[in-house]
Amino acid sequence: MNYIVSIVGRPNVGKSTLFNRLVGRRKAIVHVTSGVTRDRIYGSSEWNGVQFSIIDTGGFSVLTNDVLEKEIKNQIFIAIKESDVILFLIDIKIGILDADIEISKILRKCQKIILLVVNKIDNGKSIYSDTDFFRLGFERYYYISAINGSGTGELLDKLIEIF
Ligand code: GDP
Ligand code: MG
Repeated sequence: MNYIVSIVGRPNVGKSTLFNRLVGRRKAIVHVTSGVTRDRIYGSSEWNGVQFSIIDTGGFSVLTNDVLEKEIKNQIFIAIKESDVILFLIDIKIGILDADIEISKILRKCQKIILLVVNKIDNGKSIYSDTDFFRLGFERYYYISAINGSGTGELLDKLIEIF
């Protein structure tokens, strides 16, 4: 079975950076789909001999706020439907915005495994504490830097353990 992992989150949290890091270690076949799913990018990755597919959701940051919100939700619903595990990315540099809370509400209601991934830990000391992220309501959370790779090994270990 090929497990599917989606990266979900509001624009600018680092989804594409994480995606590139995860597929970058192999010469992954990446393709952009068309039609309703035009903003999703699929790639493949492997860790410790376990292969899985990874989806980068939402390259729609140029759209207006209304469309953006609708598009984000649409992407999340597709991700929930087709993924085994969802990586919900937030940005420790900016903290939690309304959009993060909106997304968390949708994700909390679904039956899939959600890992809250706090990104951008490379950026010096954070003014946010664990409890800020904890209130989003996910029991499992991980700290990473998609840019320099810190914490991504632990995240991948956890992922293949879940499979
Ligand atoms: P997306 O909109 O969620 O796909 O976010 P991107 O991957 O395009 O990243 C948005 C911005 O955040 C870019 O300028 C990235 O270089 C930056 N970024 C992504 N990951 C990190 C990180 O781990 N640390 C820092 N400092 N910046 C990051
Ligand atoms: Mg992106």
